[in-house]
Amino acid sequence: MGDEETRHCPKCWGTKPISEFFPSISDTDELEEHCKLCTMRMAQAEDQKRRKRAYMRKYYHENREQILEQNREYYRKNRDMRLDYQKDYEKSEEGKEIHKKARQRRKERKGDEKNYSRREIVERDSDENGQPICQICGYPVSYENLHIDHIVPIHKGGKDVKENVRVTHGTCNVRRRKGTDNDGTE
Ligand SMILES: [Zn+2]
Ligand SMILES: [Zn+2]
Repeated sequence: MGDEETRHCPKCWGTKPISEFFPSISDTDELEEHCKLCTMRMAQAEDQKRRKRAYMRKYYHENREQILEQNREYYRKNRDMRLDYQKDYEKSEEGKEIHKKARQRRKERKGDEKNYSRREIVERDSDENGQPICQICGYPVSYENLHIDHIVPIHKGGKDVKENVRVTHGTCNVRRRKGTDNDGTE
């Protein structure tokens, strides 16, 4: 009589008499895995989540334009703030100094001889249909993946001139730099 059969609930870690477990929905001979209390709590939580999702969906649907406008507004404000900050900084003495140094460094690194535009190189390294071709592997390159590669790297004394640059895949470029792919141009 007092020895009622018990069962462990993996949710609350309690050992409870089997009367504290609902019969299983899927298998009539079985009991639910979790105790009644936990099962009800979980169902409630699930229900709340579902209601919240439905509410959010409805809210978004009814206020779509407003929400989008808010997002845009937020983005604009943020951008303006950043731009203001940048302008103020560049006008400050510290900013001017750093700007000058950066310009100098760029000049020293590249030499002052860049004699091409990106578009020019892409046009030169495209096939007759205007499709840019990777000069390392020979396959077409999409514009998102297109790199302008220095054949002799700047840090090895290569110049930033059109004779020393070519269109490549970003991935081919990286592979070459790691030295796992030698195309024989160096
Ligand atoms: Zn439980
Ligand atoms: Zn390639």
